[in-house]
Amino acid sequence: MQDRTTHPEEQPAGPPPGNDPDKPQAFSRRNLLATLGVTAAGGALAMVNYRDDAQAATMSRTASAIADAKAAKHAWCMVIDLRVCDGCKLCTLSCQQRHQLPKEQTWIKVYPMEHEGQTFPMPVPCMMCEDPPCMYVCPVGSTFRTDEGLVLVDQDTCIGSRACMAACPYEARYFNWKEPPPVKKMPLPPTPQMPVPQQKGTVGKCVYCADRLPNGELPACVSGCPMGVIYIGDLVTDVAVNGLGETVVLSEFLHKNDAVRYKEELGTNPRCYYIAGHGQSLGAGS
Ligand code: SF4
Repeated sequence: MQDRTTHPEEQPAGPPPGNDPDKPQAFSRRNLLATLGVTAAGGALAMVNYRDDAQAATMSRTASAIADAKAAKHAWCMVIDLRVCDGCKLCTLSCQQRHQLPKEQTWIKVYPMEHEGQTFPMPVPCMMCEDPPCMYVCPVGSTFRTDEGLVLVDQDTCIGSRACMAACPYEARYFNWKEPPPVKKMPLPPTPQMPVPQQKGTVGKCVYCADRLPNGELPACVSGCPMGVIYIGDLVTDVAVNGLGETVVLSEFLHKNDAVRYKEELGTNPRCYYIAGHGQSLGAGS
């Protein structure tokens, strides 16, 4: 895990625990496990291709969570198609520009991953976990989860304990040690959905551009990716779209391409799905 004694202004948030940001990370089933199949109707997730009991249990929890989510109008998720990512990092840059982030804050970060001697890029935003450890450890309830599945931070009540940063297994959070850089005049005051400008002494993270979603607009990383790697999806309406305007039936897309989730075994139930495609084996024991 990243050395928390290092000032984050000097070292951006590190890679997923146990990995060195400068070394390609091993891609294995341990890190990125196949999880889901989906039914076409209504976007409800179903369980297919159970590879073991633990996976079946996880899928059961996912299915019930989605059933709950269907009570809401939307259940937002992302799909990241690793087959077409060229590692240009324009997703990172687009996000930084939109949220006027200091350069060390990469709310979506592209990690070098390794599989059988080959390196490939893997963008990692907040996983918008259905069981978010960051939320459970917040001593003042500043991190909350909307009924549409977005994990957000209320910077007005955040006391900067950084417990959430330690709890997040995806290193998705950043502490604002200093006043944020001067920002362009914003039309609206900061909100958890659009926390710009950020506040010194609080924690920031990827928000899936939650202020854009109700208007049918794409998150900055989605529209900024020239390869169409990143899809914003809705499990309720069963649709996902990328920055090239390619629209897919979400359930079919995930199922057909053996979508997986990152660090499935931790039980956080990410709402971010990956499509592998670099020859990675997703079979048991790989
Ligand atoms: Fe919280 Fe980290 Fe999960 Fe995002 S990825 S919801 S910050 S635990």
